[in-house]
Amino acid sequence: MAVVGVLALQGSFNEHLAALRRIGVRGVEVRKPEQLQGLDSLIIPGGESTTMAKLANYHNLFPALREFVGTGRPVWGTCAGLIFLANKAVGQKSGGQELIGGLDCTVHRNFFGSQLQSFETELSVPMLAEKEGGSDTCRGVFIRAPAILDVGSDVEVLADCPVPSDRPSITIASGEGVEEEVYSKDRVIVAVRQGNILATAFHPELTSDSRWLKCSWICLLLLDRHRFFLDMDKESD
Ligand code: GLN
Repeated sequence: MAVVGVLALQGSFNEHLAALRRIGVRGVEVRKPEQLQGLDSLIIPGGESTTMAKLANYHNLFPALREFVGTGRPVWGTCAGLIFLANKAVGQKSGGQELIGGLDCTVHRNFFGSQLQSFETELSVPMLAEKEGGSDTCRGVFIRAPAILDVGSDVEVLADCPVPSDRPSITIASGEGVEEEVYSKDRVIVAVRQGNILATAFHPELTSDSRWLKCSWICLLLLDRHRFFLDMDKESD
């Protein structure tokens, strides 16, 4: 039986474990590098990414997490988990924070504002209906949420959402304040996939819709293999 690890340093790991139980999949808490061994996939939950990074450093987890992502096993990051997986994060109050990386995108940590500006909205996600059936929309629960500002060419955008009208355009100051850019687009990316990595700026584990969860571990793995074999078949015809 497949075993899914849930990074359990801080944040909504219990909610992910409960969501796994609901679909009959065994989830285990991961706090130490050796606990990543033997897992079929990994979930990195939401929470507070700077705190999570400090704890991950304390437990010397970063090298093992990077190695896990590099093995090609499915990894799903929600919210702070998305930030952790991004190659670049902007919007820190001070300094930077260590990231796992692997996902070719730039994330703004608190794009949608403070805790008080948390919101829920309906998102259009054709991929969910294609892979898991049902409606092509899902409920997006955004809690002090990040957003993806730009993506590399290997990244598939799965969902975007309108920038709320009460959200003033933000200034992105990265590095030592050298680059400054004002984000003024109407829509922003909130769910992506790149190879084995799935990432959402919102929290599907807080809803009863388990399609993201199923996509995150079964589909990424099996459908990619399936596609790989289909492509091989085509080539040998
Ligand atoms: N914006 C938060 C951070 O910087 C993430 C919020 C969340 O995971 N709900 O970590």
